[in-house]
Amino acid sequence: MERCDVIIIGAGPAGTATAILLKKMGYQAILLEQAKFPRDKVCGEFISPAADSILNELGVLASIEARSPLRLRGVFLSSYEKIEMFVDYPEMPYSPSPVTSLSLPRLVFDNLMLEKVREAGVEIREQHKVLDFIFQGGVVVGVTGYDARKTPFTLKAPIVVDAGGRNCISLRKLNLKISSKGSEKTAIAAHWEGARLLKDYCYMHVSRPGYTGIAPVSKDLTNVILVLDSFYLKGRSIEDLYVKTVLKNRQRNDLLTGGRLTEKPRVVSSLAYSVKSPSCGGLVLVGDAMGFIDPFTGEGIYLSLRSAQIASGIIDLAFKNSDFSQNLLSQYEIIRMREFRKKFMLVNILQKLIYNPPLCTRVMRILSRNPALAKLLVGVTGDYIPAETVVSMKFLLKLVSGAILPQEKDLSTRRIRLQSVLRD
Ligand SMILES: Cc1cc2nc3c(=O)[nH]c(=O)nc-3n(C[C@H](O)[C@H](O)[C@H](O)COP(=O)(O)OP(=O)(O)OC[C@H]3O[C@@H](n4cnc5c(N)ncnc54)[C@H](O)[C@@H]3O)c2cc1C
Repeated sequence: MERCDVIIIGAGPAGTATAILLKKMGYQAILLEQAKFPRDKVCGEFISPAADSILNELGVLASIEARSPLRLRGVFLSSYEKIEMFVDYPEMPYSPSPVTSLSLPRLVFDNLMLEKVREAGVEIREQHKVLDFIFQGGVVVGVTGYDARKTPFTLKAPIVVDAGGRNCISLRKLNLKISSKGSEKTAIAAHWEGARLLKDYCYMHVSRPGYTGIAPVSKDLTNVILVLDSFYLKGRSIEDLYVKTVLKNRQRNDLLTGGRLTEKPRVVSSLAYSVKSPSCGGLVLVGDAMGFIDPFTGEGIYLSLRSAQIASGIIDLAFKNSDFSQNLLSQYEIIRMREFRKKFMLVNILQKLIYNPPLCTRVMRILSRNPALAKLLVGVTGDYIPAETVVSMKFLLKLVSGAILPQEKDLSTRRIRLQSVLRD
């Protein structure tokens, strides 16, 4: 029977980051991936500024920078064609350089991550699909599956990391998925060429019947994602619905007229879900396998990388104590939730807000008059300003009543007094 220290399922950002980190700690991991790389993935393709330091630690940032990727300096926000504004990322305290977020195709990013895993000396088995877990005394001790030739394989390890994303086997086999309570949302995504937009902003247009995220991802390509209630898709041609809905919005039309789709739009349904922690030992879930709220704030890749960091620390602890029980591994979820609980609350609040046109426009108007506040929110969604800064009842009441911060007129030139905002 073949054995290793850790089996990792899935070579997305969560699985590859976990593989590199565990290798650095001296563990022998095997990475199993059902696809053949390079493989593409539906995604907004911009990566929170906070991910830079993790990508640097993983040794991937230099390879990304070597390809001269686009870097975005902020977001353009528009509410129901009534209010619009550009918001730059606020400065990071004590950092001399302006904050930016990476924007590059997943086809490129995920492949660079996998190359780094290979370089690190981790064994990668592509076209290996995991079908089930092996249990011993109620604890996961390995996996079974088949390879490209449909030849079955069995692999054993004291720890299995499921980084298989939204369709990972843990959610199906262990019944861990909790579907979102609200109306089901679907994302339709495609790359365009010939769009006329600033190359250093991500554009978020909130309007009926959903919102779009538009971001340049290379010199020629722009990623356009439309998110709307799933029932709009019933009986409609996906491409027709997508193009007509995207171009119906006047501002989007201005950006995309003259542009054209470079591929057939792809669909991801049932966007939001949460996940129960596994009740067995030997199993750790990272990345989207732990749940997904919505792409509006675009932090899935950062969360995947950060959850890989937390998980590898706990896996190291488990090996040092020869304890792979659910009790020890549950520390991972405790730390993860301590770090992200407030951020998840904020994303949930923003979700409610964007689907309430009058409130959304009101809040956007307040933000447009309070650039420092708008920057603060963008910094929090960029994952480098703690969510605690804005997630309090007092703050939110002030936000909706417009009673926070004096007005600041010149957004572009004024140095934002972030420290004083944080103190308030
Ligand atoms: C519409 C949309 C837009 C988004 N936009 C953004 C954005 O702009 N910025 C951002 O940061 N995040 C965004 N996200 C979120 C982001 O895509 C995810 O959070 C991220 O990809 C999660 O990484 P992961 O490694 O957990 O999973 P994935 O990237 O999904 O990787 C999982 C891997 O596991 C493999 N796998 C699955 N099951 C098995 C199996 N049984 N055996 C072997 N291999 C398996 C898959 O083939 C895949 O390669 C968006 C998501 C959606 C749906």
